[in-house]
Amino acid sequence: MVLDPFCGCATACVAAERLHRKWVGIDISPDAGDITKLRLSDEVNKAANLFDPLADVIVRKDAPERTDNAEEIAIQRHLPRYQTHKPELFGRQQGKCNGCQYWFHYRNLTVDHITPQSRGGTDHIENLQLLCAACNSTKGKGTQAELISRLKEQGVLK
Ligand SMILES: [Zn+2]
Repeated sequence: MVLDPFCGCATACVAAERLHRKWVGIDISPDAGDITKLRLSDEVNKAANLFDPLADVIVRKDAPERTDNAEEIAIQRHLPRYQTHKPELFGRQQGKCNGCQYWFHYRNLTVDHITPQSRGGTDHIENLQLLCAACNSTKGKGTQAELISRLKEQGVLK
């Protein structure tokens, strides 16, 4: 089985067809489907013994929703702009809460303004961090230093 996830003008698909291999070609370009059909029909004309591969060419015009552009998704879903940095923050913090330092599932971390917006903090990524719900609640409108000191008082941090 040959898989070409970016088949473009179908070179790998045609080569696989010539070798009588099963194949799947995928491309986001609407032209790729037409080009693939054209090239395969050429192959069918050249070698009459091939089964008709054109029957299996599916051209979908309903492109799947992209999930890799956080900023665009946030805008579409009317999320606040600072939320667009959540995936990058999750990577930077390697999945840990920036307060208690415990690991949390992505959805259980919230984007926090290190310097609160009420104290002039901006939405810039350098002013953002991910906190678990408990740390976010402990921090409230306080500063990061105040959060750390409260976590030490509570025995969460040494
Ligand atoms: Zn925490």
